[in-house]
Amino acid sequence: MYARRIEKLPPYLFAEIDRLRDEKRAEGVDVIDLGVGGPDLPTPDHVVEAMKDAVEDVSTHTYPSYRGSDEFRGAVAEWYGERFGVELDPQDEVLALIGGKEGVAHTPLGLVDPGDVVLAPDPGYTPYRIGPILADSSPVPLPLKEENDFLPDLDSVDPQVAQDARLMFLNYPNNPTGATAPKSFFEQVVEFAREHDVVVAHDNPYSEMTFDGYEAPSFLEVDGAREVGMEYHSLSKTYSMTGWRIGMAVGNAKILEGLGRVKTNVDSGVFRAVQRAGVAALEGGVPQEYMERYRERRDLLVDVLRDLGLDAEPQRATFYLWVPVPEGYDSMEFTKLLLDDAGVTATPGVGFGKHGEGFVRFALTRSRSRLREAARRLEDLDL
Ligand SMILES: *Cc1c(COP(=O)(O)O)cnc(C)c1O
Repeated sequence: MYARRIEKLPPYLFAEIDRLRDEKRAEGVDVIDLGVGGPDLPTPDHVVEAMKDAVEDVSTHTYPSYRGSDEFRGAVAEWYGERFGVELDPQDEVLALIGGKEGVAHTPLGLVDPGDVVLAPDPGYTPYRIGPILADSSPVPLPLKEENDFLPDLDSVDPQVAQDARLMFLNYPNNPTGATAPKSFFEQVVEFAREHDVVVAHDNPYSEMTFDGYEAPSFLEVDGAREVGMEYHSLSKTYSMTGWRIGMAVGNAKILEGLGRVKTNVDSGVFRAVQRAGVAALEGGVPQEYMERYRERRDLLVDVLRDLGLDAEPQRATFYLWVPVPEGYDSMEFTKLLLDDAGVTATPGVGFGKHGEGFVRFALTRSRSRLREAARRLEDLDL
């Protein structure tokens, strides 16, 4: 019935947790879901207002342009210039996406051939593995280990793998680990990409979700990055716009052209009204009060987990806490324990790849009062 490439997709481990959570809810348990990787806070008012105006303007109702409107691409270029000091030509160095996930998943179709290797961080956002499989290429995990601050060790990549690799996905600030990367790491990446002729696709949707004064860089800030790479960005996380489906790919024009040619043939762009709302989001700036809320929640949950004897670190970016599971459990078992004994869901690390085993991810996407309630229930947990 199904194509071989569909049969090759790994089992969706999160589905099992979703099923158990729904069962608990059906039993009447008030489950506190800390597994959700999307903001609970609403889209800022000024963005909603811009959307209302845009949707009433009939000129937004027709097919959009494939690459994104001049206005949206211009706003992206302007923002990259101001925020990162990266000058982009809105004509061919910016492409609108129907969310970052769409861009990630379609990139291998434009850039790699069957049998080529694609390097994918493990643990990692699942489309870095699935996109290559859908393009009949071979994802090879780049392990992210705690002892390397969750940065891949590029020197340890097998020479044959490095030679066969055409594309490498990276993501800092990182989902699921919350890790950040110094610019010196990006410099090593550029060197690796040049040496092995690999395209770098850096995914940066959490660059604005940072705390304690940390400022996340763009990959494109580093010398030589624009010759070897591109970057994805999304309005989903920063502006609480997951449902709106808008993001962007920026960087090397030739690389973007590979993705753009796929997109031209499979989708017809982002609703013009959503692009206008996207311009309003970018021009209105990051809702800092939202970031402050995530920081408060982080501090609260870190305290709760530490009281339980878990080794939780207040990460400097993203709304995730990546926490080692206690002795005697694997990540799935510990997740089930949290659900059964406290009515709290987290995401088992193994769902992000085999190197995610031994960790669970908590998302800071619930209010402080819900987190306090979770704390009360967790206190009674016997670990
Ligand atoms: C959320 C997320 C995205 C982007 O999501 P979209 O809603 O598709 O824009 C991309 N990469 C990572 C790592 C994410 O966590």
